[in-house]
Amino acid sequence: MEAGNEKAVLVVEDERKIARIIELELRHEGYQVTVEYSGDRGLELALENDFDLVLLDLMLPGMNGLDICKHLRKIKSTPIIILTARDRVGDKVAGLDAGADDYVTKPFETEELLARVRAALRRNGNHIRLKYADLELIPDERRVLRKEMPLELTTREFDLLHYLMKNADKVLTRDAILRQVWGYHFEGETNVVDVYIRYLRMKVDEPFGESLIHTIRGVGYVLRQS
Ligand code: CA
Repeated sequence: MEAGNEKAVLVVEDERKIARIIELELRHEGYQVTVEYSGDRGLELALENDFDLVLLDLMLPGMNGLDICKHLRKIKSTPIIILTARDRVGDKVAGLDAGADDYVTKPFETEELLARVRAALRRNGNHIRLKYADLELIPDERRVLRKEMPLELTTREFDLLHYLMKNADKVLTRDAILRQVWGYHFEGETNVVDVYIRYLRMKVDEPFGESLIHTIRGVGYVLRQS
């Protein structure tokens, strides 16, 4: 399991068996999970707390999923993935129109659900401007500055640095980096990470004297000050 996930997910689903399966799968991946079976209470929770993601069934007792979506969207930008029945195609469209970010049809494959959760979280975290020490990254402009000097990075180098900065001070394994930056499991090919870390060091660290990218022997890498 990947360390340091800790994203908070709210699951609003009245079918307890499905809610339970989702809860277990998400917990297994390291997410903090809150489950709510009623629509009204689900909306309240989503408004009161800062969840990183809401998984929302559409057919709920009390307020239905579409109305929850519309209400929540007026106030918060929390990513929402709706859960729809496979035979209700119109629900997907209505859900997206109501402000949902994505949908998963039931019955779903666990791997698909998890991939959509990861993608929604990634999109959400991706436009925040990051600063660490004298390093600054502006996702929307795809710009990186160190000591206010712009750095020329390739797309992959940028994505790698972005991931390191989002997780500054956390030790990241090569596997976690591969999965998050390359987006798939590249069995036995983790040396591609080492290669790109080397490129990044030549641009981000070496010209500036002070290193921010550190190797943790036998584990992976961390971005931190000294
Ligand atoms: Ca339902």
